[in-house]
Amino acid sequence: MHVLILGGTTEARGLAELLAADARPDLRVTTSLAGRVASPRLPPGQVRVGGFGGVDGLTAWLVEHRVDAVVDATHPFARAMSFHAAESAAVAGVPLLALRRPGWQPTAGDRWHEAGSLDEAADLLPGLGARVFLTTGRTGLAAFADLVDLWFLVRSVDPPQAPHPPRMEVLLDRGPFALDGERALLRRHRIDAVVTKDSGGAATAPKLVAAREAGLPVVLVRRPPTPEGVPAVTGPEEAAAWVHGH
Ligand code: NAP
Repeated sequence: MHVLILGGTTEARGLAELLAADARPDLRVTTSLAGRVASPRLPPGQVRVGGFGGVDGLTAWLVEHRVDAVVDATHPFARAMSFHAAESAAVAGVPLLALRRPGWQPTAGDRWHEAGSLDEAADLLPGLGARVFLTTGRTGLAAFADLVDLWFLVRSVDPPQAPHPPRMEVLLDRGPFALDGERALLRRHRIDAVVTKDSGGAATAPKLVAAREAGLPVVLVRRPPTPEGVPAVTGPEEAAAWVHGH
């Protein structure tokens, strides 16, 4: 059996690790990465890197490599890939599962402002703060490029490229992040607002706790829609059970 994991997340790696630990001789696992990160943390099993070339490319890949099951474990904001996976799996007649971590939920004391997009988040910011901790990833910085009066602390895995806000400091780092570190970061940079996508998961949640403790507003970018009719689970264990069920 050949399983294709569409990866780029902690959960995708977790699933590859679980399947590798089972060491079943009849199970071959390939993880696919988009290639956005210069030196990604590689999962066990086979790894391929780079786009497939749209729906047609992915469908051809599934057929050519005799894929028996696909797990879409891409990031909740990787909208295009999830829709491509749904279409290609249907055309190729391959079962598809979505592995998607739950979104974050506000608790008492949170000052969250929901935005439908990065542009909407940028529109909200001027009324909320002047020194902004921006954790939405290096590829969406253009949305904030016109906010010339605000200062940004941008945290990303790889260095961002223009267009980006004119007044910014870049912090190259990769999660998981600890609460103490997040508290110190907000204090050291005198942050008064935080912007994040609703990525969910424990690895990057401490910034939300630190913001709540400090009474800071958080602009939370809502998740994009997902394809209909695709069964979904929230953790690698459930996804591994689904794979074994096939
Ligand atoms: P996207 O907008 O959904 O995808 C754009 C294109 O990138 C796709 O059409 C596909 O190219 C290629 N691609 C995406 N994921 C791929 C994968 N796992 N394997 C092979 N090709 C892939 O995705 P994105 O938002 O650019 O994210 C790219 C990757 O980074 C995803 O795998 C995701 O899991 C990871 N990631 C994204 C975010 C985020 O905030 N968006 C955060 C953390 C990690 P073709 O059409 O040529 O096949």
